[in-house]
Amino acid sequence: MLRCGGDRVVIVGGGIAGALLAKTLQNHADVVLIDPKEYFEIPWANLRAKMEQAAVERTVIPHSEYLTHGKVVTASAVGVDDSVVLTSVGRAVGYDFLVVATGRMCDRPQKRADRLQMFQRDKERIASAESVLIVGGGLIGVELAAEIVMGSPEKRVTIVNGGPRLLKVMGSKASAKALEWLRSKNVTVLLDQTIDLNAGVSPDDKVFTTSAGETINADCHFVCTGPPLASGWLKQSFLGDHVDEDGRLAVDEHLRVGRLRNVFAIGDITNVPEAKQGYLAQRQAMVVSRNLRLLVKAGDGGREHKLHRYKASKTPITVTLGRRDALSEMPFMTVIGHLPGAVKPRDLFISRTRRMMGLKWKA
Ligand SMILES: Cc1cc2nc3c(=O)[nH]c(=O)nc-3n(C[C@H](O)[C@H](O)[C@H](O)COP(=O)(O)OP(=O)(O)OC[C@H]3O[C@@H](n4cnc5c(N)ncnc54)[C@H](O)[C@@H]3O)c2cc1C
Repeated sequence: MLRCGGDRVVIVGGGIAGALLAKTLQNHADVVLIDPKEYFEIPWANLRAKMEQAAVERTVIPHSEYLTHGKVVTASAVGVDDSVVLTSVGRAVGYDFLVVATGRMCDRPQKRADRLQMFQRDKERIASAESVLIVGGGLIGVELAAEIVMGSPEKRVTIVNGGPRLLKVMGSKASAKALEWLRSKNVTVLLDQTIDLNAGVSPDDKVFTTSAGETINADCHFVCTGPPLASGWLKQSFLGDHVDEDGRLAVDEHLRVGRLRNVFAIGDITNVPEAKQGYLAQRQAMVVSRNLRLLVKAGDGGREHKLHRYKASKTPITVTLGRRDALSEMPFMTVIGHLPGAVKPRDLFISRTRRMMGLKWKA
């Protein structure tokens, strides 16, 4: 077990939320980040990175580049009690404060070099394909289809979506606009159909049959059904009662779990009633960062009444559609095209995210 002092903050999960929290807290507490990967990556630049190698290097960032005063344990958390996190490498990490930031299950390689190679392979698969099948018509599937057809309009892209409409996290107007936009770019969209992924689909498969019996020929395919939440490791623990039936951790207005004095959760794993978006995960990280600074400074003297509150956000969801266009759902309006596209920077907030992490520009 690692040494456990009064200011030990253990952050489980080095995604958008956990990494930013670790970075902002490292000079104020004894920070330990537990993550199975040696890097964090900017997920919303993922799809661009499949098309454009230049984006990759800037979006896959070693934890060591921004976490110069904290420790990293490269492992998955597999269990937790009220003072120790157990990891997949058999190491127990003691904590005074715990932050759960495990977001969604992640099967990325441990090494950055292997992750970069994955992007390169995806890029080559897409470049050499005349036809691409995308399984899943949520945010990821729609954005990937748009990246491909806007970069290479000659490719035949098919989306197979299990439900009756695309983008089910958004309203029906947004779904209809996305469908119309994709069809105008010659993307074939099959709704209410599935591809049986348990039937041994391999990366080399080129012929697929949908649940409705349609045959799709595709040189390559991508599964964009979205991984499940990574809360399995909590279910048998003392935090298990706070995991809801969707796998989310219930938090209070200070982002504390079950009103426990020293356990917080941030990012996609929480049950905060708002869209699960990276910039909101970052906002939550900043609130918990401030709260932990207060608590660490106060020691046992308490400063509970000064804790900052997190307010769920109603800000719009924007779906990137290639380099120029976007689809934006606002409270009273849903718009698609160049206008919402102009609001989102061309580099997909990569520079802004790197700046937040204190990282220098990298061409
Ligand atoms: C393709 C794509 C496009 C997106 N586009 C946008 C966008 O345009 N704008 C936007 O704001 N958001 C966007 N999002 C959503 C955004 O990426 C998520 O909301 C954000 O990543 C959530 O951050 P997080 O830190 O909570 O979780 P995650 O980013 O999921 O990170 C979780 C981390 O926890 C780690 N982990 C998991 N289990 C364990 C364990 N047992 N032990 C230790 N570590 C563990 C994982 O390795 C990972 O590093 C997009 C997402 C995707 C995938």
